[in-house]
Amino acid sequence: QAKRQGGDRIEVYRPTMRSDRGDRLMLESDLRQALERNEIKVLFQPIVRLEDRTVAGFEALLRWDHPKHGRIPPQTFIPIAEESGLIVDLGVFALERTAAELAAWQQALVVEPPLFASVNVSSRQLLRHDLLHDVKTVLARTGVAPGSLKLELTESLVMENPEYAAQMLARIAELGAGLSLDDFGTGYSALAYLQRFPFDTIKIDQSFVRQMANGRSVILRSIVRMAQELGLEIVAEGAETEADARALAEIGCDYAQGFAFGEPMSVHQARQLVGAAPAAA
Ligand code: C2E
Ligand code: MG
Ligand code: MG
Ligand code: MG
Repeated sequence: QAKRQGGDRIEVYRPTMRSDRGDRLMLESDLRQALERNEIKVLFQPIVRLEDRTVAGFEALLRWDHPKHGRIPPQTFIPIAEESGLIVDLGVFALERTAAELAAWQQALVVEPPLFASVNVSSRQLLRHDLLHDVKTVLARTGVAPGSLKLELTESLVMENPEYAAQMLARIAELGAGLSLDDFGTGYSALAYLQRFPFDTIKIDQSFVRQMANGRSVILRSIVRMAQELGLEIVAEGAETEADARALAEIGCDYAQGFAFGEPMSVHQARQLVGAAPAAA
């Protein structure tokens, strides 16, 4: 494991080097201050309607620009945030920023259905009763169109405690938030089972798009068919090429997200894309 130390010197592994556990603790203490220091950003990745290739909405994705270690991906800091409880503050931050941006986009671009924005929710957040309060507060404050602010939850998160999740999700849906089932197909639950939850959208994991690109689309097709029968909107994740986009449209996906349409972008770029005024610095 190579690690940056001081200036630009790259140091290779030494036996005396801090353990992963030590690195983790250091990152945890840095993460506590990161929000106050404005090191955490929300990027937005466009989600495109396949029928006419218009931008239908965006997914909010967090980034941490660490002063020493550079950009740290969410796969590294979200688990640390979950374990330490910092995810609660991070989650509120992501929710508030996303709803505020969504309100700005909807003012700039009046379309039917309105633009949507989705924000990821993790386990600790769902278990806390405050999530309801947080969602209610941002919806009231921003006045975004009903259902246009969506929460993304993974199958495994929901399956940790299905009864509790079902109750919480029903109350969140009552508040007027949308619900997306994220990374579908990576867990062990069936879509038919998950239909008992008030999801309006499923996001098919990008592994199925990769399979399709390699000529194996049987599972993808059957997920899409079932989702259609259950009345769910379908977003395919990880559309990287024009060929992916065309094949996904042909199979019947409503929306796609991926490098073919745009990488996660700054607030400023997202506003440009929807024709809204530039974000204040
Ligand atoms: P996710 O929710 O499944 O987000 C989709 C991930 O796929 C993003 O990675 C996105 O940048 C990436 N992606 C999008 N298009 C493509 C593509 O065409 N090809 C490939 N190979 N990848 C693509 P990212 O931004 O690194 O986020 C990773 C995960 O971190 C997210 O997975 C989500 O689970 C988590 N995450 C990000 N932001 C938040 C947050 O605010 N809260 C929570 N709880 N989790 C978050
Ligand atoms: Mg997601
Ligand atoms: Mg996903
Ligand atoms: Mg994914």
